[in-house]
Amino acid sequence: MATKYVYFFGNGDADGDESMRAELGGKGANLAQMAKKPLSLPVPPGFTITTDVCQEFYKLGRKYPAGLEAEVDKYLAKLEKAMGKKLGDEKDPLLVSVRSGAAISMPGMMDTILNLGLNDKAVLGLAAKTGNERFAWDAYRRFIQMYGDVAMGVDHDKFEAIIEKVKKIRGIKDDPELNVDELKKIVEEYKKMYKKEKGEDFPQDAKVQMWGAIGAVFGSWMNPRAIKYRKLNNIKEGALKGTAVSVMAMVFGNKGNTSGTGVCFSRDPSTGENVFMGEYLMNAQGEDVVAGIRTPQKLSQLQKENPKVYDQLCKIRDRLEKHYHDMQDMEFTVEEGKLYMLQCRNGKRTGAAAVKMAVDMVAEKLITKEQALLRVEPEQLNQLLLPQLDKDAVKKATEIAAGLNASPGAGCGQIVFTADEAVEWAKAGKKVLLVRKETSPDDIAGMAVAQGILTSTGGRTSHAAVVARGMGTPCVCGCSEVTFKDANTIVVKGKSYKKGDFLTIDGATGKVYEGQVAVKPATISGDLETFLGWADEVRAKSTRKTASGQTVKGFDVYANGDTPKNAEDAFRFGAKGIGLCRTEHMFFDEPKLTAFQKMIVSENTEDRKKNLAKILPLQQKDFYEIIKAMKGYPVTIRLLDPPLNEFIQAESKDQLNALAKKLDMKPAALAAKVAALDEHNPMLGHRGCRLAITYPEIYEMQVEAIARATAKLDKEGVAHEVQIMIPNVVSYREVEQIRGQAEAVIANVNKECGTNLKFAIGSMVEFPRTALIADKVAKFADFFSFGTNDLSQTTFGFSRDDYGKFIESYLDQRILEDDPFATLDPDGPGALMEIAEAKGRSVKKNLHLGICGEHGGDPASIALCYKIGLNYVSCSPFRVPLARLAGAQAVIKANAKPAAKKAPAKKPAAKKATTAAKKPAAKK
Ligand code: PEP
Ligand code: MG
Repeated sequence: MATKYVYFFGNGDADGDESMRAELGGKGANLAQMAKKPLSLPVPPGFTITTDVCQEFYKLGRKYPAGLEAEVDKYLAKLEKAMGKKLGDEKDPLLVSVRSGAAISMPGMMDTILNLGLNDKAVLGLAAKTGNERFAWDAYRRFIQMYGDVAMGVDHDKFEAIIEKVKKIRGIKDDPELNVDELKKIVEEYKKMYKKEKGEDFPQDAKVQMWGAIGAVFGSWMNPRAIKYRKLNNIKEGALKGTAVSVMAMVFGNKGNTSGTGVCFSRDPSTGENVFMGEYLMNAQGEDVVAGIRTPQKLSQLQKENPKVYDQLCKIRDRLEKHYHDMQDMEFTVEEGKLYMLQCRNGKRTGAAAVKMAVDMVAEKLITKEQALLRVEPEQLNQLLLPQLDKDAVKKATEIAAGLNASPGAGCGQIVFTADEAVEWAKAGKKVLLVRKETSPDDIAGMAVAQGILTSTGGRTSHAAVVARGMGTPCVCGCSEVTFKDANTIVVKGKSYKKGDFLTIDGATGKVYEGQVAVKPATISGDLETFLGWADEVRAKSTRKTASGQTVKGFDVYANGDTPKNAEDAFRFGAKGIGLCRTEHMFFDEPKLTAFQKMIVSENTEDRKKNLAKILPLQQKDFYEIIKAMKGYPVTIRLLDPPLNEFIQAESKDQLNALAKKLDMKPAALAAKVAALDEHNPMLGHRGCRLAITYPEIYEMQVEAIARATAKLDKEGVAHEVQIMIPNVVSYREVEQIRGQAEAVIANVNKECGTNLKFAIGSMVEFPRTALIADKVAKFADFFSFGTNDLSQTTFGFSRDDYGKFIESYLDQRILEDDPFATLDPDGPGALMEIAEAKGRSVKKNLHLGICGEHGGDPASIALCYKIGLNYVSCSPFRVPLARLAGAQAVIKANAKPAAKKAPAKKPAAKKATTAAKKPAAKK
């Protein structure tokens, strides 16, 4: 049978349903689902052309597959029958909207065309039929503008200039004030301008219009902003088939004062509160609400103005939430008092809202805890850790305006007024706050780099608000007190602020402050604590069999931290240990740096030992504080790793000048070239445990500092569990020898202090050879920690310092699917880790395994670590909450049965989990 490309919906039934997102796109699938039983909601009829057509369209060089035209004709006829009107009819025309919609929603990124089917004659028919001449001409001018701009690429501003000119003549401000004659004049001018721009008349044949619009929607899949959106949201090219196109009978929100259109959310997408919220505009069409051109009214106003429609909408809200078990984002239109649903989808939400909704919905028995854990994107948790305005600083700050609290978090930066400026300034290392009248999809790159977004018009559902929430960027919108004086100045309550001045916004309250207001770090409490507690439970209870046949229980999250402050953050965010303390990072500040440099330049062993003795108490103090901050959780201290030359650097200008002379170049130009060509290839020199093979006294000093710090804590009765880690191991002999030396030092400290300290001593696995001889290394190592930064460097042969020069080309050309330093590559380092796991545990069944490379904070890599059988992942303190969740999701997905689980049947009310971190028992 030939492939079915077109699916009908409407008249209480539909060909497709919600399970067909991949083919019908989210919009098409949900329209079908809403139209058919059991929901049977008032959806205008229409048909959806599948994403398969989009895929074919690009494969065939922007041509349609054979048979599509006939199939569309068939369903158009069905639509015409359902509506009792014909497309392009001169007396009573059927008008349609042509909408985009991929399987994953990409709000505002692709094209939509409304009022299609109007021409010079049909507009008269529509006017006569509806008895509403103004409406008909307004619809026609909107259509020419949208079609001209979206399908034919005529500059939007050229249309706007014509409207503005006509409005100016009569001195009116808003579009709804335009009268019939003015609208007719605008249509005439539009058509003239269109002909001039395109060299042909505006198409009068409705079928030609329809195919033009369908082509434009498919074409918009590859427009730069849609590509950018997918890139920003990590949607891989090729992961989706493309966009579907839904052609749907128009209903009109611009038919006068009993008509209107709006967007609503079944819960607050900003806070997650279980309140029905939304915005609408009377006598308007959909694009007026989302474009943020007119500031819409709150839904509560609709309740007063049209309680019948409001009640109906409330009922639909409840039914859709119960059906989809998730917060819904809905578009509706009221045509002369009758309500129609144009769209529903799982609504985008802030991280805070996602967590609150997930926790609330479990309490409401709408979803299970496991479903709740899958509802929140791990990266979204970063927003909850966004700094908030410091309450004391706010008391002293000057509040200059207030708008709508569209996306939470504190945003402070130098104000800029265009997206391009934002990108440019951010590139120069500045923190910017993007201030716009409203934002449009073209602003996306500027929005992505801004600390916050402030708009003067537009509501909580405007483009700026929706996109900012998706990005987790603080946003205040609809702040009408902000006016634009010129390209470099805004005025707020009579006071001017120039480009580059600092402003601060609070996206949680909608307030705008002058200058830079201090911020303070977030804490984990309330719903987030409950939610992460569930994640911890899931990981703690997990058990799996590794490829080598070992059963591994539990999956912990540790943090990488080098300072007492890092350790405190790690503990606060729920880390169950320190997986990597890079001791060299302790030498970045004075006086430790000078002492360390003196040690490096020592002439002989005696000299070096003297200088090491000066460093010992400084390191001991840091170790003491870090171990104490972790309250008995494991602290893995890595012995010195980097090459010593990193600490001793001096540059020569003479050489540069000589070369410039030879090459007949200006020294500055050559210096710039040299800088651009500069590379730092992987440091494979005298580093890591190689240092201890040549200078054993360095590690001996460090081990002594660790042992003394622990002894002190031990005597104070403070819990501790310290592990010593050897970096850059390539031979078991290194571990054997260094272990022996360390144990001798520890024995001495024990003897001197009267303690009986024992330390696990483990090996990092950072090179292919180490993984391949893991069975031999495991004989001398109590644990392994995978240093996947170096393991990725040495497996790929890419230097992590230089790969930025070429990785974009690799990703764009899809030579690699992922950045190997961000996402652990399963075929390279991942495969080596599997070998190390199997070989290591063949010698020690319970060998403890962890990861401390940057991948430990990446959700996909965390899932791979779980699969390989690691006992924990370790990441930077601020990624700990994310890793706690990503780890739990890995467990849930690994355990998932093929059939999706339904929400629980009636069970006793879910208890609020108490997740306060328990003090672990002291281990000695
Ligand atoms: C690693 O190589 O993954 C690691 C943690 O060590 P570093 O990044 O300090 O080389
Ligand atoms: Mg390393």
